[in-house]
Amino acid sequence: MGRAATWESWRPDPTNPRQHVAMLVDTSECIGCKGCEVACKQWNQNEARISQEPGTYQSHPALDAETWTVIKFFETDAENGMSMWLMQKHNCMHCTEAGCVTACPTDALQYGDYGVVTLDQEACIGCGYCEPACPFDAIHVDQTVWGQKAQKAGKCTLCYDRIANGMQPACVSTCPTDCIKFGDRDALIAWGRERVEQLKAMGYPNANLYGVDEMGGLHELYVLLEPPEAYGLPVNPSLSKTLTLWKYVLQPVGKALLGAGLFGLVLNWLAARRTFKGGLSPHETGAAMHD
Ligand code: SF4
Ligand code: SF4
Repeated sequence: MGRAATWESWRPDPTNPRQHVAMLVDTSECIGCKGCEVACKQWNQNEARISQEPGTYQSHPALDAETWTVIKFFETDAENGMSMWLMQKHNCMHCTEAGCVTACPTDALQYGDYGVVTLDQEACIGCGYCEPACPFDAIHVDQTVWGQKAQKAGKCTLCYDRIANGMQPACVSTCPTDCIKFGDRDALIAWGRERVEQLKAMGYPNANLYGVDEMGGLHELYVLLEPPEAYGLPVNPSLSKTLTLWKYVLQPVGKALLGAGLFGLVLNWLAARRTFKGGLSPHETGAAMHD
């Protein structure tokens, strides 16, 4: 399908940050080597951690604040009666309607250029509201991120620092089978749909493309051989209405009321100051008010 020619040379347009980019993982070509995990740790200088044995070939049982991509392994029965490994490259999906952005009270998480969901470490207060708001379990808070004692959230950045400088994400560059493609989101969706049809013709009737509409559209797309649940992916995840109400209605109203309260206090203080400057002591002012 012209993969090398199409994707390896592709770079985002530096003059058009409104362009939406994406990664597409063709899971049918993933061999579970975990090269992407190493490249991610190396580029982002995240510390290596001793992890628990998850009982599969996974390196870590789950993502954490310093582990931003993990290849998850799932075993299933193939059509020929044999067992088959399904691999899912798990990381932040950079949702168009992101639970984490909606939940964050300090706006440390924001919608950035190229469709990337950005995380400002300075603005993060470590409250952890983003963790349960993410339907993909892709953002985590712990106490040792960046070597500091303070709690900070951590997640995949889509290598924003690389793509803004005309490079591909580190995991894309390192994948030995080129199963991670990086490009214009619409073009990748078209490529993924074509690939799904090709896989169906090759004897994988359940092949499907994940991420086109989930959470308003993900910037991490997957060509899957089996239904999403076989890869631990949620079916039809959506943004909580309660969260949206809190973020875009209750929080602004609360801030406005707080502002009005502070304004009232300042006015009160100015009025009192004028009274005292007029010659009355606080005691006399009180007495005068009772006369
Ligand atoms: S996958 Fe989770 S952490 Fe990433 S943007 Fe979506 S809600 Fe946020
Ligand atoms: S932990 Fe940080 S990023 Fe997460 S919601 Fe709190 S302030 Fe926002």
